[in-house]
Amino acid sequence: MAAARRPLIAGNWKMNGLVSEGRALTAELMALLNRGARPFEMLVCPPATLVSTISTAARGSVLLIGGQDCHADAKGAFTGDLSAEMLKDAGASAVIVGHSERRTLHGETDQTVRGKAMAAKRAGLTAVICIGETLEQRDAGKTLAVLEAQVLGSVPEASRAANVVVAYEPVWAIGTGRTPSPDDVAAAHTHIRKTLAQRMDNADATRILYGGSVKPENAATLLGLEDVDGALVGGASLKAADFWAIATAIG
Ligand code: PEP
Repeated sequence: MAAARRPLIAGNWKMNGLVSEGRALTAELMALLNRGARPFEMLVCPPATLVSTISTAARGSVLLIGGQDCHADAKGAFTGDLSAEMLKDAGASAVIVGHSERRTLHGETDQTVRGKAMAAKRAGLTAVICIGETLEQRDAGKTLAVLEAQVLGSVPEASRAANVVVAYEPVWAIGTGRTPSPDDVAAAHTHIRKTLAQRMDNADATRILYGGSVKPENAATLLGLEDVDGALVGGASLKAADFWAIATAIG
């Protein structure tokens, strides 16, 4: 990994966590982070109901807080939605956009995701833009072509490494316990970085995370790959010990 790219370990709590649970998990992570400087950044993305609470609890620590989704507009008649500005106002510094569960369950297209990434930039948030192939696409040998199309469709023009992170998450690996081979992950990340160069000047400085069934057992292998700059972790981010073990696999 290039020295300029500081690894990022991001946790996606999805629709999990009441106030007491979120506070307890945050306190455990902060205690671990407070033991000393680490060669990675740590981000947790709780449900929207907890962003403000967790941001307040984490104030003064290096733990970063993010949202799991945002609307493309700053405000308006969009019942149930949240803007990037609202997340920023609640204490977030990042937002996940285009997670496969949003793409699949909410019909989000690359264009939708691109609009959300632009909203994140407008609000001063880092957009963690998720892409990934389905099993059907993989079996048809289309993985790299799908990733290329998703990068070009979802990452706004003139993005900067400071406000964009890409998360490669094979849809079939999310929550399944299955992962691609290290060679396949490496090939995907290399191709994503090459494609990113068409969207931004500093693709070399942009962090590309791997996500999909990252566990303490496979973290060292996956995070040790050349173009892998961290992980987006779902299930294992709900246990402080597991999330920490994944982060510290980085070194
Ligand atoms: C995710 O939902 O982004 C994810 C990677 O989930 P898991 O780690 O549980 O596969």
